[in-house]
Amino acid sequence: MENIHSVLNGIYNKFADFEDKGQKATYIPELANVDENLFGVSLTTLNHGQINIGDAHQQFSVQSISKVLLLIMAYNVEGEKLWKRVDVEPSGAAFNSMILLELEKGIPRNPLINAGAIVIADIVFTHFKNPEDDFIKFVRRLTKDDSIDYDIKVFESEKSVGYRNYALINMMKSFGNITNTMDEVMDFYFKICSLSMNCAQLSKAFFFFANDGIDPFSKEVILTPGRNRRINAIMLLCGFYDEAGEFAYRVGLPGKSGVGGGILAILPNKYAVVVFSPKLNEKGNSYRGMAFLECLTTELSDSVF
Ligand code: GLN
Repeated sequence: MENIHSVLNGIYNKFADFEDKGQKATYIPELANVDENLFGVSLTTLNHGQINIGDAHQQFSVQSISKVLLLIMAYNVEGEKLWKRVDVEPSGAAFNSMILLELEKGIPRNPLINAGAIVIADIVFTHFKNPEDDFIKFVRRLTKDDSIDYDIKVFESEKSVGYRNYALINMMKSFGNITNTMDEVMDFYFKICSLSMNCAQLSKAFFFFANDGIDPFSKEVILTPGRNRRINAIMLLCGFYDEAGEFAYRVGLPGKSGVGGGILAILPNKYAVVVFSPKLNEKGNSYRGMAFLECLTTELSDSVF
């Protein structure tokens, strides 16, 4: 742990003055207001607790990282039947791409691109009585932190310009792959994307992925070990859209990014790590976050391979 701590600090200091060539996400107007210099890191391990550096306690918009938690809710009620409505293949296309959706008759390539997460939102909406409440309760249970909430400003901001996501749901509805009212599903989808958390809360919430699906703090089984492995596989292949190959090549861990600038990565049986740095590369993944994680796994010789 001493070792991880000093390696993390060293890399953090190196990247604190890094020439960040990324750009903040501005297609959601509210995200343009975030301070682009923020930089936080949190790493949670089983036996040694948590290491937090820099702006690790600064709340930010979780965005697509939420899709993984939403997926768990749907997977745990539907089981393998879930994959009839959404596939588990990498898309090789942007997170909000429409191209494959028409060719593949409204079945999204995977649950971590926007179209896939919208189908998952539809499924959760069908099964849960109060989906927004149930989702936030699930996140609070994982973090043991009742202060976690949606950011209504981000929600309203994204909803007001959500043209492309509305286009995706319309396409899927036309193929019969959306069962609820489109407005209800979209409100739920934008809500889960607006989830506001910090690096420390996220690395704690996602630690069970490194622990065979078991929450080490409460011993609760969040996912059975087999399901846990499958979701890790989906994160590895689909968590970074058309940059999933690059992330696997450079970082070597399953993970998930969001346009708020967060990246989460899992080293099974060891740790969950989260980096937050708002400027994104052209694929919508944190520019400094990617470079930081590449350096971390290289220095520690960590990889799932
Ligand atoms: N809410 C964002 C969207 O639907 C999520 C995108 C992301 O984080 N990659 O566009």
